[in-house]
Amino acid sequence: MSPSDSLGPPVQLRFDCECGALQVVQIAPAEGAPESLECSRCEGTLVLEAGRLDGDGGLFACQLCGHPELFSKKDVPRALGLMVVAVAAVLAPWTNYASLAVAAVIDFALYRCMPDVLVCYECQAEHRGYASEPRHPGFDREIAERLAFGKRAVMGKPMRAGGTAGAPEPEH
Ligand SMILES: [Zn+2]
Ligand SMILES: [Zn+2]
Repeated sequence: MSPSDSLGPPVQLRFDCECGALQVVQIAPAEGAPESLECSRCEGTLVLEAGRLDGDGGLFACQLCGHPELFSKKDVPRALGLMVVAVAAVLAPWTNYASLAVAAVIDFALYRCMPDVLVCYECQAEHRGYASEPRHPGFDREIAERLAFGKRAVMGKPMRAGGTAGAPEPEH
């Protein structure tokens, strides 16, 4: 048994290099992210802000840029959802349109059981396989606007201390 077996499973960081090549990095929570890696397409050096990851795989800040605000979204492949709907539409005339109702149930079930992906507000890097604690709430437009337009965009709503880790869901 290797030391990392007692810790969380490896987690995954995905982001696009400036050249457009998708980078997928596997990170063992015990070891943390590498400090940098080289893009296999443009050979540019990509610097990772390692850290802010606890030994159980809990994520406290973006592994790429170090920004502490992230949002959760369901990791449902769009193509899969569309395929379910397309098959249901084709079958509809033969099933007296019951297939459409079945498709809605399947889509809902898919959505419910798919894992969360954590997305950085700042650089859009995606993090998969992280521990469920600390939890990062769903997308908050006010946070995205503050980052896009600067502090003036959202008056009186500065960043929460510690970022979004364990923050409540947005009310709007
Ligand atoms: Zn590149
Ligand atoms: Zn980031």
